[in-house]
Amino acid sequence: KEIITAENVKLSYGNYEALHGINLSFHEKELTALIGPSGCGKSTFLRCLNRMNDDIENIKITGKIMFEGQDIYSPKMDLVSLRKEVGMVFQQPTPFPFSVYNNVAYGLRIAGIKDKELIDQRVEESLKEAAIWEETKDNLNRNAQSFSGGQQQRICIARALAVRPKVVLLDEPTSALDPISSSEIEETLMELKKQFTFIMVTHNLQQAGRVADQTAFLMNGNLIEAGPTEKMFIAP
Ligand code: ADP
Ligand code: ADP
Repeated sequence: KEIITAENVKLSYGNYEALHGINLSFHEKELTALIGPSGCGKSTFLRCLNRMNDDIENIKITGKIMFEGQDIYSPKMDLVSLRKEVGMVFQQPTPFPFSVYNNVAYGLRIAGIKDKELIDQRVEESLKEAAIWEETKDNLNRNAQSFSGGQQQRICIARALAVRPKVVLLDEPTSALDPISSSEIEETLMELKKQFTFIMVTHNLQQAGRVADQTAFLMNGNLIEAGPTEKMFIAP
């Protein structure tokens, strides 16, 4: 089942057109990898999907992006609820400079949840899902930025999952990490895609081959090819 559909998405930064008309659908509980050379527009396109790049000066976006049948660029769209449904994890682990607990609880508090027991429960659940509970359960008050890079990225994943998004956008989530942390995060994503839909930018073809159900290849702001990953990679 399709959860997000992009129709003829064009995007310009001033006079520079970075996306020339992208048509691509994302399916529920799948992981899609967006691959392609540096500067081809992967990150630009990813950020359109939860309107993360709205505030950039001189940006112009046309076309249509439907999320569960709603046009996300319609004036009726509520950005806070869009970003609750479509979360984001960045390349550099970026936990806020406060406790693990307060990082993971952050989105819940923005969503107006005040029930302490519910927040405690959701924090624990999310840290477990991101496979970082064992390392944090006795240190929930410790500053999240004092953990290792891989651990910080997991805390960020837990923070994204805590609000129960339907889709999580990942912008090169492992490229700042060592190979072991990186492959552990891949395993976690494989497990989590039973529950969530992921759209991940990666420059790592092998990674796409390992984790993605669908792979989309962009070049110079165009979608060159998209399809089931096993059909995109022809064995040598
Ligand atoms: P990728 O993620 O594939 O490396 P990006 O989406 O980051 O590519 O960038 C696509 C193109 O848009 C590049 O030429 C980049 O320089 C340009 N670009 C990205 N962000 C901005 C911006 N805020 N202002 C102007 N140009 C930008
Ligand atoms: P502060 O922002 O004052 O540093 P803390 O990070 O110490 O706050 O604690 C933030 C919240 O985390 C508090 O509501 C606290 O009750 C809760 N908390 C801390 N440790 C645990 C724990 N082990 N289990 C459940 N909740 C906890």
